[in-house]
Amino acid sequence: MLNRSVSRRRFLASSVAAIGAASLARFGSSLSLAADVASPARKLGFAFVGIGNFATHELLPGIANCKYCEPVALVSGHLDNAKRVAAKYKIDPKFIYNYDNYDSIRDNPAIDVVYIVLPNGMHAEYTVRAFAAGKHVMCEKPMANTVAECQQMIDAGKGAGKKLQIGYRMHWDAATLACIDALRKNEIGKLEIIETATGFSIGDPKQWRLNRKLAGGGCMMDIGIYSLSAARYLSGEEPTEVFANTYQDTSDPRFKEVEQHCDFQLKFPSGVQASCLSSYATPLNRYVVHGSKGYCVLEPGQAYHGIKFSKTEKGVLKPVDVVGVDQFVGEMDGFALALAGKAPFMATGEEGLQDMRIIEAIYASARSGASVKL
Ligand code: NAD
Repeated sequence: MLNRSVSRRRFLASSVAAIGAASLARFGSSLSLAADVASPARKLGFAFVGIGNFATHELLPGIANCKYCEPVALVSGHLDNAKRVAAKYKIDPKFIYNYDNYDSIRDNPAIDVVYIVLPNGMHAEYTVRAFAAGKHVMCEKPMANTVAECQQMIDAGKGAGKKLQIGYRMHWDAATLACIDALRKNEIGKLEIIETATGFSIGDPKQWRLNRKLAGGGCMMDIGIYSLSAARYLSGEEPTEVFANTYQDTSDPRFKEVEQHCDFQLKFPSGVQASCLSSYATPLNRYVVHGSKGYCVLEPGQAYHGIKFSKTEKGVLKPVDVVGVDQFVGEMDGFALALAGKAPFMATGEEGLQDMRIIEAIYASARSGASVKL
């Protein structure tokens, strides 16, 4: 969680810790790089496509705290709402687009990055069109509904010579990074078992998250992806085999089209096993990593703010203090720094594609009742 009173030195250190998540060893060298871009000539201009709950309540307030990014345009089907949001964030009303004139963003040089915050089933189309308009893209998770769509998005970015980042905000979370750091330093010994659980009780049966075409699936696509992604970043490995079960009570109006529970096991090359749960019917939010000498807990496992990291010392679980940047500042400023050549690219399209490959294997295993090799 961003501690807004941290000194600039600590801010840079924590930004860099975040930006170096893929390789925490990069911490020191990235610090001076971040300092180089303390005064960028111009902030990167972001256009937000879809101003629903997440864009309104998290991403727009998040970008308002960014050092290297600012909101400059909105794409929405609801003009009145877009005008209200534009006024709040001092966005020129001339830069409000709708889904019909979306492609004309190509003529607006103030837009550097298009941030896609639409239902999952629309991510691929709107990403490909943003690349065709010559813009970089940030796209929310899950990257798309299928592996084929993810590949299409990556190819479109390469074809346009533009970059793609997926909205994996946990890659910038300070408690998560501290936990990964402790695991890589063998502070709980050799890793053995990872338990991840993410879920919530979903409401309105008419919402797009419960519509297969728009959501791509049920709890696994929306919230189970956090359990999956965590098993990958906590182990630091890629799974080689998956076994999964889904459950769906079709007499519940919410679960006519998509699964309500999905539990899955992952095997990793080192022998680490992950046991992962996701649900649209009950709140779940805890990650536990068991090693040969102790265990670590992230609780909640994923949240916008306030994740707590604890670790055993001589058998006793103790909280660990961490300081870091806000996840949304981390992901957007991190993208800006990477585009400026000052930090590595994180949460790339390939990362989103890898999650989607595993999710397709999870669904295949649940359908067949057999494990699936990856
Ligand atoms: P939402 O329903 O609140 O907003 C969706 C937006 O898409 C709205 O502005 C809506 O008007 C627009 N839209 C355009 N066409 C639509 C259609 N056919 N049906 C429904 N909406 C349509 O959803 P949200 O919670 O803001 O989620 C948007 C995206 O962000 C999803 O991909 C979701 O997975 C992702 N998300 C990510 C996080 C995160 O922590 N990274 C959190 C929440 C949501």
